[in-house]
Order: sequence, then C-alpha cells, then structure tokens
Amino acid sequence: MTTKTTKVYLDYAASTPLDPRVLSKMLPYFDLHYGNTSSIHSFGQEAEAGLEAARGIIAESLNCKADEIIFTSGGTESDNLALRGTAFAERIRRSANHILISPVEHPAVSRTARQLAEIFKFELEFLSIDAAGMVDPDDVARKIKPTTALVSVIYANNEIGTINPIPEIGAICRNRGIPFHTDAVQAAAHLPPDVNLLNVDLMSLGAHKFYGPKGIGALYLRNQSQRLLIPQITGGSQEFGYRGGTHNTPYIVGMAEALHLAQIERSARHTRLVPLRDYLIGQVLESVQDAQLTGHMANRLPNHASFAFKGADGNELLMLLDIAGFACSSGSACKTGNPEPSEVLSAIGLDRTWALGSLRITLGYDTNEEMINALINILPTLVNKTRSRR
Ligand SMILES: *Cc1c(COP(=O)(O)O)cnc(C)c1O
Repeated sequence: MTTKTTKVYLDYAASTPLDPRVLSKMLPYFDLHYGNTSSIHSFGQEAEAGLEAARGIIAESLNCKADEIIFTSGGTESDNLALRGTAFAERIRRSANHILISPVEHPAVSRTARQLAEIFKFELEFLSIDAAGMVDPDDVARKIKPTTALVSVIYANNEIGTINPIPEIGAICRNRGIPFHTDAVQAAAHLPPDVNLLNVDLMSLGAHKFYGPKGIGALYLRNQSQRLLIPQITGGSQEFGYRGGTHNTPYIVGMAEALHLAQIERSARHTRLVPLRDYLIGQVLESVQDAQLTGHMANRLPNHASFAFKGADGNELLMLLDIAGFACSSGSACKTGNPEPSEVLSAIGLDRTWALGSLRITLGYDTNEEMINALINILPTLVNKTRSRR
C-alpha cells in the first residue's frame, strides 16, 4: 500500500483547533504570570493585567464596556447563567414568569428553559419557525407579554447553520422592556458580534468554536450595574459577583486573542469559505439522490453545509466516513449515538425517514477544494450503502 491516508477534519462547528497565535499568547500565563488575579502582590497584579487586557479586547470586539463581560467556563455555562440568572432575577423583581425561546436552541438553552419550566414552574412558550429554522420577528411581537422574563433566540444554528434576524427581534424586546438573550456561540466565529447592532441585552460566547481554547466562554450583560442576574456560581467576588471562582487567566487571554483574530480576519475567512461551501452544497445535491439541504439556502453560516438524505442512516454514515478518513457530524455533537431524530430537524418539519439521515459538514481554516472533491467522490456510495442496510 502506497496510498497515504490523511484524516480530513470537517467538523469545525463541533470544535476548532487552537490557533498557534492564540497558544503563544496563552503560554506565559501558565508558567510566568501564574498568580491569582485576586492577590495583592506583583504576581497577582501581572495576572490581573492580563485578565483586564483580555476583557478590554473582548469588549472592543463586542462594541460594549469592559464591565459588561462576565467570564464563564464555556458557552454552556454562559447560556445557563443568562437563562436561569435572568429568569430568577426577573421573577424576584417584577413577578415575571414567562419564558419565550425558539424551538431550535442548543440544549444549553433548551434544557435550561425546560428545567425552569418543570422544576421552577416558569411558563415556557416556543416561537414558531419556518422550514429553514428561522424565527419571524412578528411572531415574537405576538407572543411577548408584560410578564415575559426573557426571550432567547439562537444567533446562528449549530445544526443547520441558519442565521436569525437578531437585530429585528432585539428591537421588539427593547421596545417592550423585556431582556433579550442570544446564543452566539456558533455565530461568533463568522458573524459580527456587535451587541449594539444586534440589540441584545445578553449574549453567550464560547472560545473553542473560534480557534480558542475549550473550557472558556463569556456572557455579555448590558448595563450590569443594574444587577439583572442571580449568580449561579457563588463564591469569591470575581466577575462583579456574578461568577465566583479563580480566573482561568491563560484561557481568558487566549479567548480574547481568538475573538480579536476572528474580527480582523472575518472578511478574508468569508471570501475563502463561502465559495467552497457553495461548491460543496451544489456537488452533494447533484450527486446524491433524494438529498436536501437543511437550513436556509443563503442566510447561513459561511462554513456550514448540512443535509438530509432520505432513508439513510446518519450514524452509520458518520462511521463509514470516519473509516474513509472524513470527520463529519450529524448535527449537535452531543447527540452522537442517539437514535432519535434531532429536535432541530424535527422542528423544521423533517419526518423520521429524512431526519435520521442527516449529515453536517463544517469547513475551517485548512479546508481546501481537494478535500471537498475527495469527499464528494465517495459520499454517494456511502449514503446508498447505509440506505440498503436500513
Ligand atoms: C458549542 C455550542 C454551545 C456550548 O458551548 P460549550 O463552550 O461547548 O459549552 C452552546 N451553543 C451553541 C450554539 C454551540 O454551538
């Protein structure tokens, strides 16, 4: 055998590699500036300086004030703090008891909202979506109430790539005086995270989706001096009292650098990724029978291609692709091994025969046309193989 088998990673929506430029910014905070940011001595001051510089860089990217950034352990914790923290605060402040979310939220939002409904007796209502998984701002205007504690709508969907009209939804919530949260964990790698353009009051980020380290994230909280959140992790007075615990300084520094790079390189990344994505989508729809694109045709993440193949077995397909050297996903990484169709694909109206045959291909910094061609060469055969076995 002389053929070289190289693995091709096409799952950038699940996680991204750490950018070497990010790593080099992080390293001194492991072995040189290792002090606790809360300490008075010079070691603590060095760590504190790194922390506050990072907060400033993130605030610049988000077009907000530095004290509106709360660092968390990741996107999931940020979503949890936004939802539970706001729901409890608004219940205490004004007896608000109603939560409005889309039916295509990441489990970090949807399961938190369900827990708030089931255990804490909030009234949970879902917005409608169209076949592309998009929320209609008019539906928000219809369903929002004076007793709504919080509205939460995902900025760009992780499974189907669809981008929501966040600025328009935000304007409606602002008008009614209701807090509005968006999960921008997937979007931040590619879309402008400007909280003023987006009209959001809360926004969640996670660094490992934009070439930063895993296990670090942030919550943007507008005008945090108004104390609109009940903390979920109590302890020291870090993060304005909203999130106790010693700062993970190296990761925070890394997150800031990665987010900064995503801003200054956004248009270059788009220019490279969009034609590759569109080529991939066109080729897959042309070469695989009974195939459809899931999510919006045009209004989707620049690196995101997602499909449903009628009668195919999505999990089996992922295994066959892996053996052939291609790492893809069927949707949310958390759902691997779950034989039930994904909630997101069911919510956009796909029946079981389509929804169980889903495939998500997400591109990144090292993806090239050669890799796409190699994938397209084998994909139709592999899809049909899983069809005959089902
Ligand atoms: C990955 C992801 C999360 C969870 O973020 P973690 O940092 O992995 O905890 C939340 N929401 C969306 C849309 C995501 O893609």
